[in-house]
Amino acid sequence: MALIMRSLPEVIAGILELHGAVVEKVGADGLDVIASPELVRLLGVPEYHRLSFVGGNEGKNSLYASYDSDYFRSLEHLFNDRGRRAAVALLHPTVRPERIAETLADRIPLTNATFRLERIEELAISYFLIYFHFVALSDDRHDGMFSVLVNPLNFSTALLEHVLEDLVEKIRPAAVVEEISAAEMMKILKISHMAATGMVRDRLTDFIRSAERRLNRDVKRVYEYYETLKEEIRRRFQKKMPQGKEVSSPPESANREEMEALRTRQEAIDAERQWKVQDLIAKYALRIKIDPLCVIQIQTAVPVFFITIKRRLSSRPFTVTYNPLLKRVDALPCESCFHPSGAYTICDDKLHIVCNRCIGANSTSRKFLCPVCGANRGAKDKV
Ligand SMILES: [Zn+2]
Ligand SMILES: [Zn+2]
Repeated sequence: MALIMRSLPEVIAGILELHGAVVEKVGADGLDVIASPELVRLLGVPEYHRLSFVGGNEGKNSLYASYDSDYFRSLEHLFNDRGRRAAVALLHPTVRPERIAETLADRIPLTNATFRLERIEELAISYFLIYFHFVALSDDRHDGMFSVLVNPLNFSTALLEHVLEDLVEKIRPAAVVEEISAAEMMKILKISHMAATGMVRDRLTDFIRSAERRLNRDVKRVYEYYETLKEEIRRRFQKKMPQGKEVSSPPESANREEMEALRTRQEAIDAERQWKVQDLIAKYALRIKIDPLCVIQIQTAVPVFFITIKRRLSSRPFTVTYNPLLKRVDALPCESCFHPSGAYTICDDKLHIVCNRCIGANSTSRKFLCPVCGANRGAKDKV
């Protein structure tokens, strides 16, 4: 099952290139790196080194760089304070916003609302590309890396799989790094983490299903095994029952003791079966850990479409952007999960934008319950 969204060599190559290295692929699974002075200093690596992602290939100039390696852990140094955030400027192609506006409705599928385009402006904005490492543990282990692109103007998110090679050619070091407050950065990280969680869950669907199937199979086996034991006891129990006498007449005392012992044994079997099932559930329980590794701020200028979303008598101003990296209009965000699926529904009270999947999980057959309003109410109740 292909769970690693971008291969580790690709991701590491991308991160190193963004820190000024020249990286070249060697064979199927190696990288030749000419490190920038910054990388030599922060990682403590030779200027020229070869990376190997298969254990046992380490040599004089070859460093093992898989997830469990010192090299991988040393990348952490790129992500603390000075290194954790790299800023680049993206050269953006000239586009004709009026042409893009014509297809805007396709990118904004609203099930219960309409929108009106008010105006178009070109604005300087920064996208944030956040790299994540995830580990999914159950009876099996999967790990991998991927990146999430966040547009802080409207919190639209996208999973990036193959854009980076392309990106490296189009970026320049940022002349001036635009400042961003800690609160804004926290919000971007929170949203990217929520989106990443949804993305990993989507990617692990097959894995989760297969674990559920194996759990059911094992539980069934445990039941069958203990049923056979219980059946055996039932048979012995029957034999100890007084034969040919009145049912009400008490069994002899020796028999009574044996029957009592059988009953105790039966109870022990029930308890043991319960533990075995609990053990299986714990063994197959899925634990997902998702950690952000680094943030790349991509400064650019984009056409911004100022729209008004209209639901019944209410309206809400919103912005939609053309994404020069993805060469398409950014999808609307889902303000509940930030990893939208399907069309969008607008809530009655606050005109929150909610995706199909989030509605499915939060609504009865007739009433749509807005999960964003619900979460806000919950937060207020707690205060
Ligand atoms: Zn959603
Ligand atoms: Zn709402």
